[in-house]
Amino acid sequence: MKVRIHRGAAEIGGNCIELEAQGTRILLDLGRPISAALDENVPLPNVSGLERGGDPSLAGVVLSHPHIDHYGLIPQMAPTVPLYMGEAGYRILSEAAFFTGAAVLPRPIGFLRHREPFEIGPFRITPYLNDHSAFDAYSLLVESDGLRLFYTGDIRAHGRKAGIFEELLRRPPENVDVLLMEGTQVRANSDGTERGPSERDVENDCVGTFRETTGAVLALFSPQNIDRLVTFYRAALRSGRDLVMDLYSATIAAATGLATIPQAQWDSVRVYLPRSQRSRVIRERAFHHTDAVRARRIYPEELAARRGELVLMFRESMAREFEVAGCLDGAHAIWSMWPGYLQQPSGERLRSTLDRLGIPLTIHHASGHAFVPDLQRLVSALAPTSVVPIHSFAGDRFGEFFPRVERQPDGAWWPV
Ligand SMILES: [Zn+2]
Repeated sequence: MKVRIHRGAAEIGGNCIELEAQGTRILLDLGRPISAALDENVPLPNVSGLERGGDPSLAGVVLSHPHIDHYGLIPQMAPTVPLYMGEAGYRILSEAAFFTGAAVLPRPIGFLRHREPFEIGPFRITPYLNDHSAFDAYSLLVESDGLRLFYTGDIRAHGRKAGIFEELLRRPPENVDVLLMEGTQVRANSDGTERGPSERDVENDCVGTFRETTGAVLALFSPQNIDRLVTFYRAALRSGRDLVMDLYSATIAAATGLATIPQAQWDSVRVYLPRSQRSRVIRERAFHHTDAVRARRIYPEELAARRGELVLMFRESMAREFEVAGCLDGAHAIWSMWPGYLQQPSGERLRSTLDRLGIPLTIHHASGHAFVPDLQRLVSALAPTSVVPIHSFAGDRFGEFFPRVERQPDGAWWPV
């Protein structure tokens, strides 16, 4: 079995790894680089059969999780290339496409299930469910020719599924030859001991801010970050508030297919239909979306009257209608995404809108990626023959924190 990292050896995002055994090839992830602008044309990696199809030696693409830096180039590949991913992840991306305008992915021919191996040609693949900020995320064990590569995908140990990370350490795959490990938190200035807030810390910090706020709490986080949805729901409950989802968020929560994720039908959850989403539903005649939450809708008069009892999922584009509704007196905004976005044009627009309205902005956020001490525990548990960095801007520093590191550059084939 041999390996070629097309992208990701020296950056965070754009992951794409090609594996070859016995003349058959598969890809792990096909991501868009994070550095690419939304309207930028990013060519597919140079993989035979990927763009035009018709090359039977390309047997499939396996996606670790539904984050754009891991699947974003899928709409550009030939739809005849077989696709494998998590079933809930596929449902989430399919439902999100209606609201975001993103391309719909081709229907997968196989779905990943926790610790259930399947075969693609000479490759035997075992998915391991992960703790990550994307729902339905997996690490992938790939076996062929008697060799084993374990690709972490994106992984962490401090989210709501931390238990599954600990299970991986307790029951790791054995005899791993190559550990292809993400290192988002391995940075140029890391000393290897840093830790940041956990998902529980975010919940506790939110409870503090919710209780101090007299008006509405405006919550800014990705509706596809289901861990964070649970965190905000729990913090709302603990501070005596209702969580008001927008229709997009309510639709994604339903798409998880999990009864343990906060749903529109729950007590303490209501659904608001922002103007932009209402226009879209009417334009596309997609009334099944609104019918599904009809009994749980909340309207502007109630938002204003009960603003001190509500946590509103919010985007800058909703500021004007909330202002007109009179529900922003005493409001406090909570940013719960990567803080770097606040420096980008959309973040600057948000900050200037909040400034104009006199609304304070507080950051409560936890990373989707494991801290170095947790990665060290992972390496110890798997005890691989070699550790190859991916999804990091500081692969050159892996050797200071982990044993048996072998860096591989983008574009070169190497044997497992
Ligand atoms: Zn990710």
